[in-house]
Amino acid sequence: PQYASTGLDVWTMMNQVAASVNAVNLGQGFMSYPPREFIRRAAQEALVENTHNQYAPPRGHPGLLKQVGIHFANRLARPIDVSSELSIHAGANEALLSVFTAFLEHGKDQEVILMEPAFDQYTPNIIMAGGKPVYVPLRVQSGDKDPSKDVISSHDWKLDMSELEAAINENTRIIVVNTPHNPIGKVFSREELEQIGDIAARHNLLIIADEVYEHLTYGVDHISIATLPGMWERTVTVGSAGKMFGVTGWRVGWSVGPAELIQPTLSAHTRIVFTSNTPLQEGVASALKLAKENDFLSIQRQEYEHRRNRLMAIFDDVGLPYVVPDGAYYLLVNAAAIKIPSDYSFPDFIEERGPNFKLVYFFIKEFGVSGIPPTEFYSEPHRHLANDYIRFAFCKTDEGLDKAAKCLQSLK
Ligand code: GLN
Repeated sequence: PQYASTGLDVWTMMNQVAASVNAVNLGQGFMSYPPREFIRRAAQEALVENTHNQYAPPRGHPGLLKQVGIHFANRLARPIDVSSELSIHAGANEALLSVFTAFLEHGKDQEVILMEPAFDQYTPNIIMAGGKPVYVPLRVQSGDKDPSKDVISSHDWKLDMSELEAAINENTRIIVVNTPHNPIGKVFSREELEQIGDIAARHNLLIIADEVYEHLTYGVDHISIATLPGMWERTVTVGSAGKMFGVTGWRVGWSVGPAELIQPTLSAHTRIVFTSNTPLQEGVASALKLAKENDFLSIQRQEYEHRRNRLMAIFDDVGLPYVVPDGAYYLLVNAAAIKIPSDYSFPDFIEERGPNFKLVYFFIKEFGVSGIPPTEFYSEPHRHLANDYIRFAFCKTDEGLDKAAKCLQSLK
């Protein structure tokens, strides 16, 4: 069986390595602080009355459909018919699996284009749905800046449009566009999205827009590809309450798009999980309503920007260059300067995963700060492009970041 022998996923593996030395965990992108009081209260209140304990309709709890509909009507500047153009999922991951399941057929060699680095869930989700992932790497074009010595911008990671087009053939069905991007923090520009959209239109492809970090951008605007002319018709946009409210354990996400695309997605969702949990859908509905009143999302954005700046300052201080993220909550640090002693011994589960896993393992053990090996986000032919990088998450408390700063002093 496909999943019988794959061993630990990277998240569990690196959490375990971090725990073994009690490291400051800047690995997996979960928040190390509690959600705001109003958000927790919204979930508590959903359970006070006995009204949210049974199945919600597969498409979603009506109260949440209404609020997410209002949210997207604003975001996408178009009316959203929540009875046909929206579906609630058990997290954005399940939304992605549902879209792939809806539009890929087993045994037909249908292909999905991913831009590398690509969030590690895409590949197994595509394979489970019967499709074949095809990878086009983002390539660093930083001019005379050397990424192993100089700070570069996430915008320096470019998609070569002719490389994208060359990857398309008669079996291609879908392009996945992740903006803001995990792990680079790149926010695709309007021009880039127009070029991708133009290619998708010429080859009649679907677009899956993974925009779970839509609210977290720093000094640039997030643009939904679905808002570009002619793109709504071919795009399913995926979002996440976990990312929006700092509640990644609630597992509430959504997909939005034209009825022709959401209907099959909903059918797949119905067969995968039937429906997402009702009380937390109600909790998210109330939180969305309150967030508008207290301007929560823009306050939260500023907090993340502060955390980003703090983590960048920590690496400035110890002299390791990084990629400045314009969005999301990850920092790719270039650790080429760190030399691992030749007699250093690694456990087999790290040794067999290559140089980048060794670098991250060594870093966690030696400096007590954990990250994620970004080579996990690559296919074999392009994996070497990330060998020098470690991904750190900054959805963490000031206290945690201060502790990381202390640990890293020994790098000086
Ligand atoms: N999206 C989060 C990250 O990239 C968590 C991923 C996961 O746990 N599957 O860190």
